[in-house]
Amino acid sequence: MLKTLITKLLCALLALPTLAAAVDLHFTEIAPGVHAFVGEMSGRTYENEGMNANVGFVVTKEGVVVIDSGSSYQVAKKMHEAIRRVTKQPVKYVINTGGQDHRWLGNGYFKEQGATIIAHKKAIDDMTARGVEHLAGLKRDLKERIDGTVVTLPDQSFDQEKTLKLGGTELRIIHYFGGHTPGDSVVWLPQSRVLFSGDLVYVDRMLGVIPVSNTKDWLASFEGLEKLAPKKIVPGHGKVCDLAKAKRDTKDYLALLRSHMKTALDKGLDLQRALDTLDQSRFKSLLNYESLKGGNASRTYLEMETE
Ligand SMILES: [Zn+2]
Repeated sequence: MLKTLITKLLCALLALPTLAAAVDLHFTEIAPGVHAFVGEMSGRTYENEGMNANVGFVVTKEGVVVIDSGSSYQVAKKMHEAIRRVTKQPVKYVINTGGQDHRWLGNGYFKEQGATIIAHKKAIDDMTARGVEHLAGLKRDLKERIDGTVVTLPDQSFDQEKTLKLGGTELRIIHYFGGHTPGDSVVWLPQSRVLFSGDLVYVDRMLGVIPVSNTKDWLASFEGLEKLAPKKIVPGHGKVCDLAKAKRDTKDYLALLRSHMKTALDKGLDLQRALDTLDQSRFKSLLNYESLKGGNASRTYLEMETE
């Protein structure tokens, strides 16, 4: 009896590190039928399985719509397990809100389940261009946890806007302009006034201006989504928030970068001088501030130099 108990305890203890070291895809219902997962705000790691981003799903009477399929086949499978704990409805659609790895590398799993995958045409171009590179990058961190993942492009594209009506729920997929990536789109639920903003909104952590980003388009996209007057926003990264917070952590920051760089370019300052005279410290409470502020500033300067 005692021996069995000790063996059981030992087994449980041995299993702990492996259990603790994988992503826990815990979804919260933020409005009736609307579920969101908020990922870690650090970088991609073996432990978080590349899920340092937010994803969601919407349950309707006639099926489920997944918003972003996650970073890998295995993550998508775990998402599906989480969905099954909520509903027996099948996953009918997957929407990819952008072209970055954790928005779409789980597509292969959901395609096997018979789901139709939708993304903006520019997101599909972006996936085509960067998919192999994304997989290779994630393989370094995720090791065997990337196994099973293959580049799986969406089945359907759209131009500016596409409306899905499923089981009495309306989902509007809207592309304004690019932003963090060229094909960034939002998913708007007019009935609950919830917005899945994808990577057009970052809160709690500093946004990343990456080589495929465009800050002018990003600000213009933000102005578009603002007009929807969402009650709740599931940002691409950071906790579920309201519009005021999204504006503070994303729009105001982009506006600061752009207004500073405009003045610097008008004065004829070179890149180094433009960087030296920029004070971003009012955003220093955002996570990853130190590691991202330099790249964000220089990419904005280089972008605006050619505008
Ligand atoms: Zn992202």
